[in-house]
Amino acid sequence: MATNNDVTPWKPFESDCCGSGCNPCILDIYQQELELSKKKNENISSSHLNPDTYTQFKLVQITQHVKDVSIYRFELNENEKLGHKVGQHVIIKQNHPTMPGSSITRQYSILSSPNDIGYFELLIKLYENGVMSSVIRNWKPGDLILMRGPFGIIHSEALSRYSSLLIICQGTGLVPFISLLQHLLNNEDSEQMIHLIFCVKSCDQILLSQNLYDFCNYWNFKLTIYISSPVSSNFRLFGPNKTFINKKLDTTALKNEIEKKRKYILCGSKEFMSCMQNYLVEFNVDKSDILRL
Ligand SMILES: Cc1cc2nc3c(=O)[nH]c(=O)nc-3n(C[C@H](O)[C@H](O)[C@H](O)COP(=O)(O)OP(=O)(O)OC[C@H]3O[C@@H](n4cnc5c(N)ncnc54)[C@H](O)[C@@H]3O)c2cc1C
Repeated sequence: MATNNDVTPWKPFESDCCGSGCNPCILDIYQQELELSKKKNENISSSHLNPDTYTQFKLVQITQHVKDVSIYRFELNENEKLGHKVGQHVIIKQNHPTMPGSSITRQYSILSSPNDIGYFELLIKLYENGVMSSVIRNWKPGDLILMRGPFGIIHSEALSRYSSLLIICQGTGLVPFISLLQHLLNNEDSEQMIHLIFCVKSCDQILLSQNLYDFCNYWNFKLTIYISSPVSSNFRLFGPNKTFINKKLDTTALKNEIEKKRKYILCGSKEFMSCMQNYLVEFNVDKSDILRL
């Protein structure tokens, strides 16, 4: 029987690359996958997450979070941490669901904190016509899933040089910020102001609301949720430092957010990030002050 490691990687289109210098870019991932597939079974390691070889992790729990979104918990050895840093992601490899002999890979941010021991978690949204989504839909506790990583470094020390951060994210683009925000807000010596703008289509797509509400208890954190489709008139966000706005995030709102010594961090679909980056550049924000995850 073919394992995920006996198959040829499915080649992405050049146009799948977002052109924003991601590390690794999906075209680099394809080249790495080609190399790995040549080595066949030599490259499945048995326990630790590694960027160059795949490791099998046991899926132990699937918890539905909101519609089409679940949290997937994977087992680590007792007393073991995954070994990632805040905001990093893994690459998951699976057999292509309809092309026998081909494999597919997708990137997923690590939801759990680098301090969590004995497990790690991913939050994954399943799309109706998504290729990897159709595979993940059949995952069940006990399955062994191939991953490599961690990838994508956020230099949190460099971020701390800015007097404020504006994080603008969309949908599952929120995930990498959960561990980053825990890290930044737990620094009691920091006086950095952080504003998180979270864009969703509908109120039932607000992810990780309990984490977001907890962050709002910090004096230096502010949350604004933009919900693009109509919400019922009695919809409210309760507690300090949070607002919801029932429309799409637009240039007028962004213009009011432009400040000196501010770092702008974007995460979402490539169209979303390009659109937000163009708005910011229009308002004379220096490209070096914009970070796209
Ligand atoms: C660095 C990085 C981190 C990521 N982290 C996460 C994460 O933590 N959780 C998570 O769920 N995903 C995350 N993603 C996205 C993930 O890698 C896949 O792109 C996603 O799961 C869809 O894969 P798929 O094969 O199911 O869909 P594909 O087959 O690639 O796409 C098929 C169709 O699905 C729909 N679709 C796919 N993606 C989107 C989207 N973003 N918005 C709207 N429609 C879409 C579209 O209709 C698209 O045509 C991340 C991506 C990157 C680059």
